[in-house]
Amino acid sequence: MRKVLFAISTLIIFSCNVKSQNNTNMSDQNKKTGYEVNKSDDEWKQILTPVEFQILREKGTEYAFTGEYFDHKEKGTYVCAGCGNELFTSESKYDSGCGWPSFYEPLSEEKVGESEDRSLGMVRTEIVCNNCGGHLGHVFPDGPKPTGLRYCVNSASLDFKKKDQE
Ligand code: FE
Repeated sequence: MRKVLFAISTLIIFSCNVKSQNNTNMSDQNKKTGYEVNKSDDEWKQILTPVEFQILREKGTEYAFTGEYFDHKEKGTYVCAGCGNELFTSESKYDSGCGWPSFYEPLSEEKVGESEDRSLGMVRTEIVCNNCGGHLGHVFPDGPKPTGLRYCVNSASLDFKKKDQE
């Protein structure tokens, strides 16, 4: 009988631990998604076009060679279409031939966040705006020097500020 009681109390303690761990994970999760700019889907829908919403907020992808900026060569800064965070400059933009705007580095490391994306049966590294959490695209290890990286970004995730307008 004692053994049974011990087993039951151990189970209870264990399940409490699991519960409190879950709570901890939940609050960590909230912190991770607690970006500086934090809006509900309804609020985003009021300021984004349907295409921008689908890509930035629902991790969509525009068709290759269809976006506004894949072949765009003006000098300036590319900012997040959701929140205006400065993400990339024309200095690091290059023609990767993939049909999406491609950069070999972000404006600074803190501007762009990364997370593992296992969707569509692939393992890729998703890139997001670190100010609002908006989905930008993916980063791949097949870029040019000096970083060897290709930040492959949806045009719809970006707005452009011309150099003389900065
Ligand atoms: Fe943003």
